[in-house]
Amino acid sequence: MRDIIDSLFAGSEHHELYMGVMETVEGMVRDFPQDAWKRKMVGDAQFEKDILQAVYDAGLMGLGVSEQYGGMGGGLLGQVLVTDMLSQNGLASMGAVLTGFCREPLLNHGTAEQIEKYAVPSISGDKAFCILATEPDAGTNTFNIATKAVKQGDKWILNGQKTYVTQAADADYGFLIAKTGLDAPGALSVFVLDMKSPGVELQELNIRTMGTEKQYSVFFDDVAMPADALIGEEGKGGKYMFAGLNAERLIISALTLGMSDLALRETVAYVNERQIFGKAPVGSYQGVQHPLAQCKAETEAARLMMYQGTKLFDEGKDASKYANMAKLLSSNAANTMCDLAIQFHGGGGLDEDIGMLALWRTTRAIRIAPINNEMVLNYIAQHCMGMPRSY
Ligand SMILES: Cc1cc2nc3c(=O)[nH]c(=O)nc-3n(C[C@H](O)[C@H](O)[C@H](O)COP(=O)(O)OP(=O)(O)OC[C@H]3O[C@@H](n4cnc5c(N)ncnc54)[C@H](O)[C@@H]3O)c2cc1C
Repeated sequence: MRDIIDSLFAGSEHHELYMGVMETVEGMVRDFPQDAWKRKMVGDAQFEKDILQAVYDAGLMGLGVSEQYGGMGGGLLGQVLVTDMLSQNGLASMGAVLTGFCREPLLNHGTAEQIEKYAVPSISGDKAFCILATEPDAGTNTFNIATKAVKQGDKWILNGQKTYVTQAADADYGFLIAKTGLDAPGALSVFVLDMKSPGVELQELNIRTMGTEKQYSVFFDDVAMPADALIGEEGKGGKYMFAGLNAERLIISALTLGMSDLALRETVAYVNERQIFGKAPVGSYQGVQHPLAQCKAETEAARLMMYQGTKLFDEGKDASKYANMAKLLSSNAANTMCDLAIQFHGGGGLDEDIGMLALWRTTRAIRIAPINNEMVLNYIAQHCMGMPRSY
């Protein structure tokens, strides 16, 4: 991976920073026992806290946040790199990834006061975010949401419902997409909601991915938000949200590709040891080697796209093509890899403590969230191939 960073980012003004970040993460990983990640996969809450604390202590949540606000500076590459490296070692936290996504519109469109109040405390881990976007009736069609914030005096009064919200119970703030009184088509607005506000109710869903990660439905009943909860201009939220999608797709690709590497590494180690027919290990059979080699090639191809997309993003160029293709290829390759990992671990693959099931569930979810792969294919067909919009 160092070779990709060296060749693609050698000319970046932040090259030194990124080299330092890689060393920091390598050091962090060495500080945890090698198979400690399996404790994370089975939901050891203390271990999850310890990992997050190590990320905060190293200042890594300050990557992408300007030095003016106490961050480490740099571009999107910082977050992509850290997520990729931690995930390769089973140590990436969905909480940190979500907070990273949510801060982008705030950092780009918030006032200095809003950044100080909401984004700065996320660097040290004092505050965490969740995303309040999906609604049961609107689903993928975010423009069809019904949740509404209406201005009353100096407050916004919020009513409605969101669903599949990851880590809602652990989040201090929700990055909320809602309609307001504006009736222009597509007029969405974004707010930062204090998740402990009276009138916010959570209901846990029976969805399992990895570790302590949980999903919730979130209900809003006359929730009062202060005037400064609105980020940027009323009605421009859809634009802000779409501007952040490439970053989201690139970071989620990093999480996914790291998982693919981890599943591959564990599986290769296992099949190279396991002997059942004489002295030749299971890993010596072509029927085992070829599908793993295929996944290795697909994972590396997606990683190249991801870093190329990140480079374009950080240069202020259009990263949509690579961000979408990387999300598609990484989630498919990683999910296939985790399925093979289960297969080649035999019965042990279905043991939660081995960790492969949790990796499979998570990579499976990433084919649906944060955006389903069909919508990514729609994007590629329409915008990269000039075909008519199909929906
Ligand atoms: C584990 C997990 C965590 C999540 N975390 C969050 C979160 O933190 N915050 C949040 O707001 N949301 C979250 N989501 C929601 C996720 O973003 C949505 O599930 C996703 O956007 C799809 O919405 P839906 O589930 O209602 O599916 P629907 O919109 O009902 O779509 C169902 C299926 O139909 C197909 N489909 C839909 N539209 C098209 C089309 N135009 N062309 C072709 N096929 C199509 C796709 O296969 C899709 O999966 C999470 C979901 C999961 C599974």
